Amino acid sequence: MSLYSLLDQKIIIPLAEKFKGRNLTGAVRFLSSTEWLSEQELYDLQSRKLRLLVEHCYNNVPYYKRVFDDLGITPDDIQSREDLSKIPILTKQIIKENFDDLISIDAESRQMFDGSTGGSTGIPMRFKEDVNSWNSLRALNFRGWSWAGFQLGEKLFTLAGNSLVKKNTKGRKWLEKNLYDRLIMRNEKHNCTDITPKALKGYYKAMMKYKPAALRGYASSLYFFAKYIEQNHLSICPIKAVFTTGEKLQPQYRYKIQQVFHAPVFDGYGASDGGVSAHECYMHEGLHIGEEHCIVEIVNNEGMVVPDGEIGHVVSTDLNNYVFPFLRYKVGDLAFIKSSLCSCGRKHRLLGEVIGREGRAIYNKQGRPFSSIVLDNMMFKDLDFHTEECQRLYERMEQFQIRQDKKGDLTILIKPVNPDEELSTFSYIIDNFQSFFPDSIVELRFVDSIPPLPSGKEDYCYSEYKGK
Ligand SMILES: [Zn+2]
Repeated sequence: MSLYSLLDQKIIIPLAEKFKGRNLTGAVRFLSSTEWLSEQELYDLQSRKLRLLVEHCYNNVPYYKRVFDDLGITPDDIQSREDLSKIPILTKQIIKENFDDLISIDAESRQMFDGSTGGSTGIPMRFKEDVNSWNSLRALNFRGWSWAGFQLGEKLFTLAGNSLVKKNTKGRKWLEKNLYDRLIMRNEKHNCTDITPKALKGYYKAMMKYKPAALRGYASSLYFFAKYIEQNHLSICPIKAVFTTGEKLQPQYRYKIQQVFHAPVFDGYGASDGGVSAHECYMHEGLHIGEEHCIVEIVNNEGMVVPDGEIGHVVSTDLNNYVFPFLRYKVGDLAFIKSSLCSCGRKHRLLGEVIGREGRAIYNKQGRPFSSIVLDNMMFKDLDFHTEECQRLYERMEQFQIRQDKKGDLTILIKPVNPDEELSTFSYIIDNFQSFFPDSIVELRFVDSIPPLPSGKEDYCYSEYKGK
């Protein structure tokens, strides 16, 4: 570790975070103190935090007060994670319909941020993120990355879409954020919605100039990046580890990335909505759930918890978000919890494969793949949900699905919120898609309901065409 990295870790980051009213290093310290807790200690910690959160929800969050009263239950009925099944599942649709009632009445006295998710589960969503949840989620990343030998203060090079890297808009706010990421957090981020050879060449040049200790990004983006480097016989700088997230890490992706970067791949899974976070350790036996931060349940279609080893819907309770509490939030992914613990000795339960996050590349007729990240941009312009224009679009679309048949043609299905909506409102989507898929026929259609995919998965994109 360089002297600058050490200075950054010990002095610069703590000071900068304090200035911003956040406490990343405090959260990192807390998580290192709980890393080796026994199963019982972790369970007790979770239960304590859950009881406090539920009490807060009942007294301060109108939606939960109503739900608890309707069900005839009180906070005393929720003592530990086994009791959570008494509370109904929170879906994106419920959040959309009850947005204001989900904000805690004391929110103004707490520090919070605006959060949003893309359409990867078909329903884009806004929410509020509590600063404590934000600190904890970022600290969980650093704890997970430390299992790969990467330390806070070291250089990270990120190649991902909008959920991790905002598009390069201009303005003072963007400049501040960009400088903070680069100079303080030492994280050089590139929005890789474009994975053409020209763009990949640009990322490569930037990486070689930056010389990061580790890479991070969407699994498919890093895979295409590795393939580009291999096909062009390019040399690379020494890399300690590669952290994948945001998509299912296909075995062939892991293999190719490790082969090209001469570094092990550590998969991660997380969502700021619902606060779910899990990281792979050096044993690579599964993803350790950040149990200090979230309670993860795997449930069936009826909302009942399934036995370990059985696949079901990921449902998460964020123990640190008091501003906009997520109790039993259905994330939109399918996964299972392993019935055995990791041989590294840590007692955090392991998420097995997260099945719902397919690497959804869509191909044009020349066989060039486009990452699913591009699709979000096309559906919602620049996907910045805090712009008025994007908000208007978001309010009008209840759900959508992009389907590609064997010939590479595209059909975009939209279920509008208002049945009398004009199709022309969304004609920009056809223009966006045709700029990337010039030879494809792009059809836009309103539907009353979005048909399920052959796999039965909740997915907003389906392609039978796998390129040439
Ligand atoms: Zn482990």
